[in-house]
Amino acid sequence: MVFQRTNGRNHRTRNMLVVTLLILPILILSACSGNSDNNNNAKDNSSNNSENKNTAFKVVIDPGHGGKDNGATGAGGQYEKSFTLSLSKKMEKMLEQESEMEVFMTRTDDSFISQESRYRPKYANNHNADVFVSIHGNTFSNPSVSGTETFYYHNNSRQFAQILQKHVVEAGGFRDRGIKKKDLFVVRDTNMPAALIEVGYLTNPDNESIMRTDGFQSRVAASIVEGIKEYKEQSDKQGFLNWGS
Ligand SMILES: [Zn+2]
Repeated sequence: MVFQRTNGRNHRTRNMLVVTLLILPILILSACSGNSDNNNNAKDNSSNNSENKNTAFKVVIDPGHGGKDNGATGAGGQYEKSFTLSLSKKMEKMLEQESEMEVFMTRTDDSFISQESRYRPKYANNHNADVFVSIHGNTFSNPSVSGTETFYYHNNSRQFAQILQKHVVEAGGFRDRGIKKKDLFVVRDTNMPAALIEVGYLTNPDNESIMRTDGFQSRVAASIVEGIKEYKEQSDKQGFLNWGS
């Protein structure tokens, strides 16, 4: 209403002022984000050129439990801690064959690692790992419950968890219980994409008897290694490595 009463020139001047006021913040914002993009690109490029090409992709494998911490007691009476170590050692051997990968284990024998020490995530952080995988077997009061599930905590671990879950379900053939966000310190306190795989239910007699076999463990170990490689390829393409730095 007010504009209709002004003459053409004032109208135009006023419109230009309004347009300028509208555009100015957008220009400032885009200039700022452009700068930060450039900075990020420069940082990513320099780290790619100077470090990533010559530095292996560091994988930390965390066999759950150990020592006096037995973890779950399986339907057949064996402990979770021995299942996790056996599977993890197979993964370790396979990853050692990968020229682009470097593998680290939070334990290689029946050592006890206290939860209070927060050793497992600290170990991965101190090694500046690219990914962290914790291996577990699940337990439930009802022995009919079965299947594979993968936990993550930070949102930038979600894709990693999803890829691992897909591979383990394919290789293991257990029911797909999906991925879940859960506040577990090993995936919460790690500074890199981290996942905790509950390969199957040790309290389910069917899952447990298969999980004890060498063939199953080798298949699942290979599938996790494939998952890590797929994640590495995707992250190389999408450039979301070093998200924490
Ligand atoms: Zn466990």
